[in-house]
Amino acid sequence: MPERITWQAPIASVAGKDAAKVEKALGLHTVGDLLLHYPRSYVAKGTLSDLSDLSQGDFISIFGQVTRCDLKPYTDRRTHREAYRVLVTVKGSDGALAMTFFDRKRSVATWRLEEYAIGSYGLFSGKLNWFNGQWELTNPRSKTFKAEGDASAAYDDVPDLVPIYPAAGNVDTWHVQDAVALALDLVDHVPDPLPDGLRERLGLLDARGALRRIHRPADHRELGAARKRLKLDEAFVTQVTLALRRRESAERTTTARPALPGGLLERFDERLPFTLTDGQRQVSDTLLDDLAGSHPMHRLLQGEVGSGKTVVALRAMLRVVDAGGQAVLLAPTEVLAQQHARSVTALLGDLALDEMSRGGLLGSEDGTRVALLTGSMRTGQRRQAMLDAASGEAGIVIGTHALLEDEVSFADLGLVVVDEQHRFGVEQRAALGAKSARPPHVLVMTATPIPRTVAMTVFGDLDTLVLSELPKGRGEVQTTLVPRANPAWLDRAWERVREEVAAGRQAYVVCPRIGDELPAEDDVELASVEEQAELLAVGPLSGLRVERMHGRMPADAKDAVMTAFAAGEIDVLVSTTVIEVGVDVPNATVMVILDAERFGVSQLHQLRGRIGRGGHAGLCLLVTGADPGSTSLERLSAVAATRDGFELSEVDLRLRREGDVLGADQSGRRRTLRLLSVLDDADVIVQARELAEELVATDPELATAPDLRAEVGALEESSRADFLGKT
Ligand code: ADP
Ligand code: MG
Repeated sequence: MPERITWQAPIASVAGKDAAKVEKALGLHTVGDLLLHYPRSYVAKGTLSDLSDLSQGDFISIFGQVTRCDLKPYTDRRTHREAYRVLVTVKGSDGALAMTFFDRKRSVATWRLEEYAIGSYGLFSGKLNWFNGQWELTNPRSKTFKAEGDASAAYDDVPDLVPIYPAAGNVDTWHVQDAVALALDLVDHVPDPLPDGLRERLGLLDARGALRRIHRPADHRELGAARKRLKLDEAFVTQVTLALRRRESAERTTTARPALPGGLLERFDERLPFTLTDGQRQVSDTLLDDLAGSHPMHRLLQGEVGSGKTVVALRAMLRVVDAGGQAVLLAPTEVLAQQHARSVTALLGDLALDEMSRGGLLGSEDGTRVALLTGSMRTGQRRQAMLDAASGEAGIVIGTHALLEDEVSFADLGLVVVDEQHRFGVEQRAALGAKSARPPHVLVMTATPIPRTVAMTVFGDLDTLVLSELPKGRGEVQTTLVPRANPAWLDRAWERVREEVAAGRQAYVVCPRIGDELPAEDDVELASVEEQAELLAVGPLSGLRVERMHGRMPADAKDAVMTAFAAGEIDVLVSTTVIEVGVDVPNATVMVILDAERFGVSQLHQLRGRIGRGGHAGLCLLVTGADPGSTSLERLSAVAATRDGFELSEVDLRLRREGDVLGADQSGRRRTLRLLSVLDDADVIVQARELAEELVATDPELATAPDLRAEVGALEESSRADFLGKT
């Protein structure tokens, strides 16, 4: 009897000679890693996997009985030597599948004849190939089951559900299966993140039992029970981590920022050229209430594109300035930071102090200074902005990642607003928080709405507010697909651009490439900014003022182009996705997106959000060469069909891998999303959140659940590691 091994033991202790291979191909290092590497699917004994829905290149595994096995010699055309084909057919209860093995050695081919003798049972895995009018597996990997005596004895030994592990490199599903079987038998303690009492109350399997059943289920019922338990684990570890973060911040105190009668906020409201929507009013009230309290606010504002988040954020910032503090607005790109600085200054009007009034006091009657700080600013400007931030001269500081640097400091940082989601992680927010003697209030705003459970998982340490209503008087935006296959349609699209410009409006043309980069092989045909700007100016848009903008231009140049476009001095802006988020030019009414299939759903929704901002109707034309029936076309049609960001973000999530949606910043959380789906398991996530709250309220040290404490620690560690890896 081999010795017991621990969860942390190296994988070599169970994978034997395959250990190095498994470690390299699958990135699994310990016995625990291996046991958390779940099967990708299960094949019922005697059936083919998903025979109804096969496509070229699919990796499939089938289990069944060999009904044909023939050896065919042939002459290899290249080497002119004799070679061998072994043709095998395997039959399951659903149907049969052909396989071809190509061998150069006769000895190997004749060995196959014996190995796959008619009547034997085997598991075959490989890539599907459409050949001679039928599906086949070419050179699949195989494992046969043989017993003393008759084949049916071997068949009886095979479980009803054969686990199939994701293939990688030269590691086959049965290598993993064998190692897992050994690990299940030998591991001494399986960490259990659920406290005992809770597990019993919920009537769930224990951790070891769940692992045994996910790897070797006797039937679908067992498999279901195992998945239920393991999904809850994943959601629970995440939610406990988030509940602890919420608790930690609730325990901290900070400076209250009460209202100042007659202050900047009141005067700002008086000069606002429009009335706030009901949604803006409600969200604002909540934020101002939070700011008046002495616990740091942690809010996520989910806003539909164009719903007017900036004004809401600005009102919160002014409240803090009124109360003697400073506010920071953090943007993901230079273009956006500059645009925010411009629009905040414009909204403030004479409440924004200019250079003439330098020396005024923070929160003075007159107004406040708005400072801009980005990475590409010249040293002199940069130093002045840093000085204004440090002295308190600037009540509002707007900038990019450059604000996170150590040398940037503040006199009294009261509020951090992070615009446009994802790209700032928890740790980055924390880096800004550290610049203040007491924790600042935090408001994170998403660029596009995200499904509730994604918000709960990715931004679960924040309390969510939603702004879905658009200000009244917004023009409709019609979205139309323009197939490249029909040149007349594209001509018509440019004609529409000319018509809008003739009516005094402006247009965007968006391209997937800049033009000076080396194209990847399949990119050669894609529209580029450089090329389109030239072609359009001499061709269909001749006579119009066409300019270009992309991320490779110097910051000053980008800023100059955006300013000119906003001032109406440019008719058509040919650009990459640098205009994707936040850019706000209400007079722009048409957008032509070239090679639209190259962009993601959220990206298209964002891009389209740039038009229809004023009172005029907008038109968004998605030019595409995507094939009818392709997923690409499906995505584009979804975008054309609705302007509801929540709906689109669900479509997006379904069409992409969830891990990608959570973003690179969130990769530390992927370990908690093996079985759990943020879309399909909403109920599990909600339940886990309640259970987590309950546990953290009674046992914040997690003393009753040491295994849980370890996992939460590991999760915090990995999100920190992600952050450190990026700076
Ligand atoms: P987003 O939520 O996408 O960031 P913005 O904050 O950029 O949207 O607002 C879009 C535009 O709508 C801006 O020009 C802004 O001044 C304007 N706006 C905001 N609130 C209102 C309102 N209540 N009525 C009319 N226009 C508004
Ligand atoms: Mg915005």
